[in-house]
This record gives sequence, C-alpha cells and structure tokens, in this order.
Amino acid sequence: MLGTVARRGALLLLLLTGCVLPRPIETLPPEPAATAMPPPPVARAPHPPAQTWRVLARTPEGRPIRVRTVGTGPRRVLWIGGIHGDEREGAVATAELPAAFLAIPGLAEAVTLTIVEDANPDGTAAGTRANARGVDLNRNYPARNFAASRGTGRAPLDQVEARALHDLIESQGPHLVIVAHGSVGRRFINGDGPTGAMVRRFSRLSGYPAIASRDLHATPGSLGSWVGRDRGIPILTLEYRKGDDPRLVWLETREAILDAIAGEP
Ligand SMILES: [Zn+2]
Repeated sequence: MLGTVARRGALLLLLLTGCVLPRPIETLPPEPAATAMPPPPVARAPHPPAQTWRVLARTPEGRPIRVRTVGTGPRRVLWIGGIHGDEREGAVATAELPAAFLAIPGLAEAVTLTIVEDANPDGTAAGTRANARGVDLNRNYPARNFAASRGTGRAPLDQVEARALHDLIESQGPHLVIVAHGSVGRRFINGDGPTGAMVRRFSRLSGYPAIASRDLHATPGSLGSWVGRDRGIPILTLEYRKGDDPRLVWLETREAILDAIAGEP
C-alpha cells in the first residue's frame, strides 16, 4: 500500500517536471530513496536570471550597501534608490525596477542597469537624513563646490558610504545616473550635466515638473554637482514628495524612469 502511494507520488512529480512521457506504471524505474526528491520544475526565463544582491560596502554600523545588476547591454545606467535616510519614497521603485526592466523586450540587451538599493542604510534605520556620523552624504562628494564642515565631512569622501558610491561610478562609467530623493511638499525632476532633452521627457511622461538646479538651493558637494557638473555625466535627481505612498509614486514615474533608462530611441 505504502509502495503504491509512493510510486504514484513519484509519477506525479515526474509528470510535473515535464521531463518524461507517461508510461505504464510497471515500467517505472525503481523507487527513489525517500530523501532523493526530484528538483522542482524550473521556469525558462527570457533572459539570464537577474544577478542577486551583492554587498558593495559596509556602513560604520555594519549594514550592507547592496547592489545588483540586470541586463547586459552596452548602455550603462546607475539607479540609486536613496541617499537620505528619511526619504524612502523610492523604495518600491527600487524593488520593482528589475522586473519592470526585464519585462520590456530588448531592453536587457541594450542596457546594463546597476541598482544601488540604498546608499545610506544607517540613516534609513535611524530615520535620519544624515548617516550614523551625522554627515549628509549628498554633501560629501569631491565636487569643486565641496564645503567642509561637521555636517558635510572634513574632506570629500571621508564617509565610507560616499566613497563606495564614488568608486562604483568611477569603475563603471555610467552613461546616466538616476537618484531618488524625497522633498517636503513637492515632487519634481531635476537634472545636472549633459541631460539634453531627458528632463523634459521625464517631466512629460510623469507629470512631475522640471526644476532647474539654479532655481533650487545650493547643494555643495552633492552627487549632482560632482557627477553632473564636474564629471559631465548626465544625472537625474528624482524628488518624490515626502510622505507619498511609495507604491503610487512608482506607478506615477515607472514609464518615465524606464524611458530614461532606455535612452534616446
Ligand atoms: Zn534627499
């Protein structure tokens, strides 16, 4: 009785794997050992499986700054899910981006997308703008306008989180950087460097107003200053409205984000 049940179970598992044709039960191979279960069926993915998260660096409090890559194309785009710990509106966009990217035919062959989940995990854990040492990481980059202080760092890149992102950018040489923030009371898209028509396109597709850097308060030592203005790499600063539902803002900006990642048609 037990043997019959086990054989039926084995047949069912083999059928589910889709690797054998149904055969009369008498011709089944000997029963496998109880511990030797066949592997579960594996769905065939249209692209190689997305790389899983790896640790780019560890923060002073030991938290991982995680990074992953999807796609293999020649255009290199870097997405940064957040740099201020009290601005987590981009978290769902960051989590959903790999699947949305891979769902667009041809995009993975055209673009290599690198995703930094959160450039300031200590700040996120504490719910603070700055990192655990009280430094605003978006003022710690080696831009020409860097201004040393307790809140911005004694020297550019003296914070491990800023150094990790800096080294990633220098090693990858991205064609575009997109960084998510949250802004009190308003949402908008801003660009630095040679962004061309990108900011206007993003604005049109998302409904987020485009605001020029000259119309914002000064941001010495910011990623936008260093990457965009000094290094000449286009960077989009995506300001979600603080407190908005991260799921809704992802839906609002999904098309515009993927359009920017794809680049000029
Ligand atoms: Zn911010």
